[in-house]
Amino acid sequence: NKQIPATPPRISVIGTGYLGATHAAAMAEMGFEVIGVDSDPLKAAALSEGRVPFFEPGLPELILKHVSSGRLRFTTDLADAVALSDVHFICVGTPQQRGSNAANLSYVEDATASVARSLTHDGLIVGKSTVPVGTAQRLRSIIAASTPVGVAAELIWNPEFLREGKAVADTLTPDRIVIGGVTARSEAIMREVYAMPLATGTPLVVCDLATAELVKVSANAFLATKISFINAIAEVCEVAGADVSVLADALGHDVRIGRQFLNAGLGFGGGCLPKDIRALIHRSRELGATKVADLLQQVDEINMSQRLSVIDRALEACGGSVLNRRIGVLGAAFKPLTDDVRDSPALNVAAALHLRGAQVVIYDPEAIATAQQMFPTLTYADSVEEAANGSDVLLLLTEWDEFREIDPVELKKRVVMPVIIDARNYLDAPRWVEAGWSITGLGSNTKS
Ligand code: NAD
Repeated sequence: NKQIPATPPRISVIGTGYLGATHAAAMAEMGFEVIGVDSDPLKAAALSEGRVPFFEPGLPELILKHVSSGRLRFTTDLADAVALSDVHFICVGTPQQRGSNAANLSYVEDATASVARSLTHDGLIVGKSTVPVGTAQRLRSIIAASTPVGVAAELIWNPEFLREGKAVADTLTPDRIVIGGVTARSEAIMREVYAMPLATGTPLVVCDLATAELVKVSANAFLATKISFINAIAEVCEVAGADVSVLADALGHDVRIGRQFLNAGLGFGGGCLPKDIRALIHRSRELGATKVADLLQQVDEINMSQRLSVIDRALEACGGSVLNRRIGVLGAAFKPLTDDVRDSPALNVAAALHLRGAQVVIYDPEAIATAQQMFPTLTYADSVEEAANGSDVLLLLTEWDEFREIDPVELKKRVVMPVIIDARNYLDAPRWVEAGWSITGLGSNTKS
């Protein structure tokens, strides 16, 4: 049964959530035969029918295309998928552990051990999940202990940088490809797997395992730091009477700084940034490298304080108490173009106001179903208008395009008090003021 990895290599993708489903579809698009494996039978069944169980622009079309062509299929049977493939991408989750900053590595460990145990011929295992530095080295021992006699397995790390909402483009045309811990053989296989993006000039960084693991978490730590930096500056802007949005534009013209990730407001959330910086805090303390831990602790605290600041503003707008006040919330997803509500600042604020006795009504263009799963006791609306009906204050918490289209003159007719807190500094404030609204941003003197 033993065979040299086929050319082109056949691919299995273990874990088909946001990362794995996108990666599997992209590999099929690049011409490979791909089997996606998920332990969740509902997810595997949906994907098998070409249905994507979450919102990601462009992904349903790509999955359907390749499920139909027969190049891509999904299963719950890991052993079968591994037996029929040569390169095995580990794409399972690494969530924050309960009661700790550390990452929960049990899914990665289980998936890797299962792949190693199921190998029927030589295989290359490629870690893609985001893991604390040192994990891959430990997984190599697990693989060595689990691989059947007579079969050779190699583990390398190839972190993923895709952004939800832009996952397809990020996977087909990434900014860079990082591969860590390769041998000549596994580097050659990776060059074959990524031949398409490499042919168009995508930089390839070949490094050791630890560097590959750390590149990913450092990238997220830097982005998180940028957001908390501008939010710290926003606080000064507010007390000094400056405008942080104008300031950010001016800063962003400096190419060394750049304009992205400099939007002051409610801060970051989602399934990656918060848990990744916390895992880095935890891991770097374990390693005795405390500087980055201290820095990121501040970044995390500033970020969480933004949520409190929006809650305080809502309380203030309602005269000190939100009890029985009606609050319309625009946005539930952690950012636009996704239905992901993991650690969503918007839902966090909405739930906190609900706990303080407010009647919170939430509208989001895509994330109502996922929000309902997480907070079934909150009330959800089908439109901006429905969320705004009879409200004492409106909160804009996620910057969906649709919210820029709102006509403030028309919306004013629906509310009890024309008060909006624009927690993303997203709206055209003068237009709302002209329509008779009181609009407050974060980090500016534009309160009217
Ligand atoms: P997710 O929770 O959406 O998906 C993980 C999937 O793995 C789930 O569908 C789960 O059922 C499945 N799974 C768990 N154990 C399994 C096993 N033993 N066998 C088969 N399937 C199994 O998570 P995600 O957002 O796709 O993230 C996965 C990893 O990728 C994380 O480490 C994350 O940090 C990293 N990452 C995510 C993004 C992103 O934008 N979501 C970007 C880059 C990196």
